[in-house]
Amino acid sequence: MLTSMSVDARSAELADNLARVRGSIATACTKAGRRSDEVSLIVVTKTRPPSDVRLLAGLGVTDIGENRDQEISGKFAACGDLALRWHFIGQLQTNKCASVVRYAQVIHSVDRSRLVAAIDKAVLDEQQVAPVTCLVQVNLDGTDDLGRGGIQPSQAPALAAEIAARDGLVLGGVMGVAPLVGDPREAFDQLVQVSAAIRQDHSAASMVSAGMGSDFAAAIGAGATHVRIGTAVLGHRRPLR
Ligand SMILES: *Cc1c(COP(=O)(O)O)cnc(C)c1O
Repeated sequence: MLTSMSVDARSAELADNLARVRGSIATACTKAGRRSDEVSLIVVTKTRPPSDVRLLAGLGVTDIGENRDQEISGKFAACGDLALRWHFIGQLQTNKCASVVRYAQVIHSVDRSRLVAAIDKAVLDEQQVAPVTCLVQVNLDGTDDLGRGGIQPSQAPALAAEIAARDGLVLGGVMGVAPLVGDPREAFDQLVQVSAAIRQDHSAASMVSAGMGSDFAAAIGAGATHVRIGTAVLGHRRPLR
């Protein structure tokens, strides 16, 4: 257990880090000729204890990103009193959908028809669950051999149409992760092109979730509306206690 002293110290550390990250987002927006309020910060709290989520909420964070169902359901139970939007950003198996729709308002990693069907069924099976916003995860690696998830860009509009046709789902837009090598800006430009193609038929699907700690300035330059940042706010990841 953390003592109250260390909670204060941790809160101050998170406040400093948040201020720095928000400043960097504002700078990237200015450079891109965009307003800061066009870009939302999702703080990725994977591997961090629920106490960090609580401190972040106290510091004005509204959006939390997580990537493993097992870990989130416990954290959500511990933080259910906080007014937070929970974003599921990791690869998702169909057998986890029933659990994920109980806490996640947004799922960023929708990359196949079977998953669309499973999330929709989970929402409709569960009473009192509002439609879940789904983003089409687009593979920006130029190959699907790497196992990092995402549908090929050419197939993304068809998957978007499947999401839009489901009663339990709302098509939010697209999500992408830059390749491990190469220029992230080129990858994010490609993601924004896919977004534009999807918006021709679905004008409200304006979310572009792109950019992590190392490349969010490039993502904002390309047109990201949501950046997902973990380490720069929370420090280097330690095992969950
Ligand atoms: C972990 C993760 C992030 C955050 O990464 P950091 O480098 O810690 O900022 C963003 N997006 C996804 C999909 C992640 O899994």
